[in-house]
Amino acid sequence: MRVAIVGGGQLGRMLVQAGERLGVACVSLDPATDSPAAQVGPAITGAYDDPTALAELVDGADVVTYEFENVPVDAMRALGRTVLPPPAALEAAQDRIAEKTLFTDVGLPVPTFAAVDDPSSLASGVEAVGLPAVLKTRRFGYDGKGQAVLRSAELAEDAWRAVGEVPSILEAFVPFDRELSIVAVRAADGELRCYPLVENHHREGILRVSYAPAPALTDELQTAAEAHARAVGDRLGYVGVFAIELFQAGGTLLGNEMAPRVHNSGHWTIEGAETSQFENHLRAICGLPLGDVGAHGHVAMVNVIGQEPDAAAILAIPGAHLHSYGKQPRPGRKLGHVTLLADDPDALRERVLQVSGHLTDA
Ligand code: AMP
Repeated sequence: MRVAIVGGGQLGRMLVQAGERLGVACVSLDPATDSPAAQVGPAITGAYDDPTALAELVDGADVVTYEFENVPVDAMRALGRTVLPPPAALEAAQDRIAEKTLFTDVGLPVPTFAAVDDPSSLASGVEAVGLPAVLKTRRFGYDGKGQAVLRSAELAEDAWRAVGEVPSILEAFVPFDRELSIVAVRAADGELRCYPLVENHHREGILRVSYAPAPALTDELQTAAEAHARAVGDRLGYVGVFAIELFQAGGTLLGNEMAPRVHNSGHWTIEGAETSQFENHLRAICGLPLGDVGAHGHVAMVNVIGQEPDAAAILAIPGAHLHSYGKQPRPGRKLGHVTLLADDPDALRERVLQVSGHLTDA
């Protein structure tokens, strides 16, 4: 099998690496010549909507996939090739209103929200949603960028300017207990497998640490999250891996956003699960049987942000596995991650603290 990947970031790199073991040949497309994926496999340099580069990318490929959600949907549809996950999933995930409408349609509750297109719809949105609220751009937001928390109606104009005066969504601020994500893989015949729910910790809008399975995970919570993932996957006719980010408030799960691709909160699966999310994505889009999604004990993933750590110090920690993406250091940039395995939750937390102590995040 040959797979064409639109995007050559770390997710593309880890897909290429998983493909190598399976005998699935992957080629990636990225505007950068030295992208993380280009360092580990064949790659084409070009823009994501450059017809010549795309034609070269898909030449000889059995299936086309993508590793980030802002891939131009029209360019994917124009390929005349099998694109998996289906472009409809991209379309839903690229627009926060479409995404929240999809969640609502399939029975996944979401924070109260209103569309905001100008200062007057922001004022009526504040009336409808209440305060505090979060104003987010409808499109192209990531890692907390393009967001402003709104605590008083007088500051509405400031929030509108802060998000760049572009079409946005106003959401009720949810006083959640914790943030979780469900990473699922769906096959073309509708079979769905979900990894255990993961607990995610963010700082400055960027994922820092994930715990898998989420501490104190109950069967009820896992079953509820799986039912939501199934409903979303079925509605989209989804094939491949996707993640849904959730807020847990008491026994309730609220949908925040979905990623129609492998996800940062699933990186722990490389060493921490029977089958990694990257391998399962390739299995699904290549029509191969899905792999087991069980976890190997207690696992955590710590992101390396901004600066490369002292590899020797990290690797001296028992149960630690270091992944470096081959990227130039830059403040706020994801450069790698560390997977940690432990026999019990206390040992795991201790190891997370040890790793965090060696990270100088810029
Ligand atoms: P997002 O880009 O939508 O994933 O938002 C980034 C982070 O902002 C989330 O991981 C939450 O920590 C926080 N956040 C987003 N939306 C809300 C909300 N409606 N209520 C409270 N916190 C939120």
